[in-house]
Amino acid sequence: MGVALVWLRDDLRLADNPALHAAVESGDDVAVLFVLDDESPEVRPLGAASRWWLHHSLRQLQRSLSAMGGTLIFRSGAARQVVSDVAREVGATNVHWNRRYGSARMIDADLKSMLPDAHSYTGALLHDPWSHLTGGGTPFKVFTPFWKAFVAGPPPREPLPAPTTIRGVTASSDTLDSWDLLPDRGWAREFADTWKPGETGARDRLDSFLANGLALYHRRDEPGIDGTSRLSPHLRFGEISPYQIWHAVERAVTPELRGNATKFLSEVGWREFAYHQLFHNPDLHRRNLREDFDRFPWQPLNETHLAAWRTGTTGFSLVDAGMRELWRTGTMHNRVRMVTASFLIKNLGVDWHVGEQWFWDTLVDADEASNPASWQWVAGSGYDAAPYFRVFNPELQAAKFDADGVYRGRWVPEFGTPDYVDPIVDLGASRARALADYAAMRGEPQPE
Ligand SMILES: Cc1cc2nc3c(=O)[nH]c(=O)nc-3n(C[C@H](O)[C@H](O)[C@H](O)COP(=O)(O)OP(=O)(O)OC[C@H]3O[C@@H](n4cnc5c(N)ncnc54)[C@H](O)[C@@H]3O)c2cc1C
Repeated sequence: MGVALVWLRDDLRLADNPALHAAVESGDDVAVLFVLDDESPEVRPLGAASRWWLHHSLRQLQRSLSAMGGTLIFRSGAARQVVSDVAREVGATNVHWNRRYGSARMIDADLKSMLPDAHSYTGALLHDPWSHLTGGGTPFKVFTPFWKAFVAGPPPREPLPAPTTIRGVTASSDTLDSWDLLPDRGWAREFADTWKPGETGARDRLDSFLANGLALYHRRDEPGIDGTSRLSPHLRFGEISPYQIWHAVERAVTPELRGNATKFLSEVGWREFAYHQLFHNPDLHRRNLREDFDRFPWQPLNETHLAAWRTGTTGFSLVDAGMRELWRTGTMHNRVRMVTASFLIKNLGVDWHVGEQWFWDTLVDADEASNPASWQWVAGSGYDAAPYFRVFNPELQAAKFDADGVYRGRWVPEFGTPDYVDPIVDLGASRARALADYAAMRGEPQPE
């Protein structure tokens, strides 16, 4: 009998975890490792909100693992070195992990050639991006054919059960607290009112969505109601897999809810599409997918405007509500993400990278694929993107999706009173300037 090493990364769950499942099924003793890698250049350092989430998620996982006889080994440093070291220390005869799809996969490829018997599995996505291609054998650049082709294929496999017992192997380990993942400022104190990181929290969230939210999903664009699943941070950290979600939805759906379920699963499909883009463009958060945007004449950065956007004091109530929701809870409703991003990029003329980095730091679901793909979608520089010239009007969006003002009243109680700040820009003039900048990028004559 040997020792299997399981290296967990963005898959902080016991159920439907193919790497853990294979290790336990092999009959070997099992060492479970998590590496905090702030050193490898291929890994984008986590933002502050993600670190908050990671701390709590690892704590939960550690408890669940020890309840079944395992332990979680915490180590920090450059993963190539650390994983090789731990494999040697525990005498690993085989190593298992679930695949990742961004630039960090270079680390995994190197380790695969260095380690004795390394196996990787598909756990985070319903598709491996190299295996799902257009008829011409190229990556998809448009969502609808991408998802249509996926749905036409075989259904996703059934989720795997969680192990019941593990014969755990230990090794020297950091303490989780020594990593200082929790922010020292009081900023994240309200996060715990909104979120329950960990596998149990994820399952509760899915159950409650299926019981209540799915029936409201046709109203998913209204930020004032609880009409979406709020599973994104759980998916981001792999506390739940898309396979578990897919099959739970299929089991729960009734004929009346079929439309909502199909739409919901297609949103999970947008996550797959974001990873498809990331795999084929590992520098997604740095590079415009449409190169003509490299010439975009962004406005000189106005720090006062940027600060107003970040703190939710722009004088546009839907934008301000979203930015305050983000700061207080670590999330923001999808419709409002689009509106706040469009406002920053188009009305304030700020390069999308600046907003993407702010979201990266403050979102608990900050995702290396979905965040930059969505910012590029709003900017018009990405695949299947909203055309740049379609500028969201935050007042019209508010009237349409938050007509009763419930959402804005929740986050901006002073809106509609004399205490509310004046708008920082003129919507009409800033829109016209944005369109002129776009025309300049394209080398078109300037509008009058
Ligand atoms: C500017 C901007 C930045 C974004 N940054 C992120 C991010 O960092 N991480 C992230 O997970 N999502 C991001 N999104 C996508 C989307 O806003 C969130 O996934 C969604 O709000 C999460 O809420 P939910 O779990 O209730 O979604 P639901 O509507 O319940 O959808 C179910 C799941 O599908 C996935 N999903 C839904 N919409 C999208 C989408 N447009 N793109 C990719 N996946 C999607 C998510 O994993 C989500 O949990 C961003 C969107 C915009 C416009």
